[in-house]
Amino acid sequence: MSVLEVKTAGEPVLKKISEPVKKIDKRIKKLLDDMAETMYATEGIGIAAPQVGVNLRMVVVDVGNKRLDLINPEITSREGVSIDTEGCLSCPDLFGDVERAEKIHVKFTTRYHKEKEIDAEGLLARCIQHEVDHLDGRLFIDIAKNIRKGKPQRGEQVK
Ligand code: ZN
Repeated sequence: MSVLEVKTAGEPVLKKISEPVKKIDKRIKKLLDDMAETMYATEGIGIAAPQVGVNLRMVVVDVGNKRLDLINPEITSREGVSIDTEGCLSCPDLFGDVERAEKIHVKFTTRYHKEKEIDAEGLLARCIQHEVDHLDGRLFIDIAKNIRKGKPQRGEQVK
């Protein structure tokens, strides 16, 4: 596995709508592993393929209990409202308050070619919504309120 360079705001790859993954092959699995390694190395809790320069619909998240690889994730329902602080590996030292759904239902394909559906809430739901936004060329700074500069405080996580 290798740690990849993280693209930062201003790079065109972050503004494009990513393409679905058509075939889950060795290259895709290696990319998922490299994305995970990059996320752990930078102490993020989520990462999307465009952040490492690849416009494919792939996301890796780990909010502290286990790593989840989502290929072609699709949020099929959203419920409730939650406002909380977000940061992003692609927007170093920026934080802001983002309104997200509190609960979501997500469909995706696993790296083992299985179709899966999960319910997520709280931080996991927030993280998945943030990453799926990346796949649609949207950064949290496009939608955040009260954007501020600084180092992460305790409890503030970057995605
Ligand atoms: Zn991000």
